[in-house]
Amino acid sequence: MEIRQFQEHIKKIYFHHDSKRGVENTLKWFLSEVYELTEAVNKGSKKDIMTEAADVVAWLVSLLSLLDIDLEEAVINRYGGGCPKCHSIPCKCEYRDKPNKIVTIKID
Ligand SMILES: [Zn+2]
Repeated sequence: MEIRQFQEHIKKIYFHHDSKRGVENTLKWFLSEVYELTEAVNKGSKKDIMTEAADVVAWLVSLLSLLDIDLEEAVINRYGGGCPKCHSIPCKCEYRDKPNKIVTIKID
């Protein structure tokens, strides 16, 4: 299954719920799934990590479908030519250990 097919698949399963829920609440679900993935990674169970990673991607495509954004087009545009900054494969940018921004997200 390719990215666009997966987005359509999830849309067929959940769009009737997602469209009722709306962008803001779907974004909150997505963020709560990212948190659950974080917990799974910290616990180290491969089975749980796989489950939560699948949920994160499913909620991401649900959110993007509500916004009429095609994830496959987005990733090809952003990463199809390699690193978006240096345009190399592999990336030749200076290594960074941590992100520039440390964020705290509160969900209701
Ligand atoms: Zn780079």
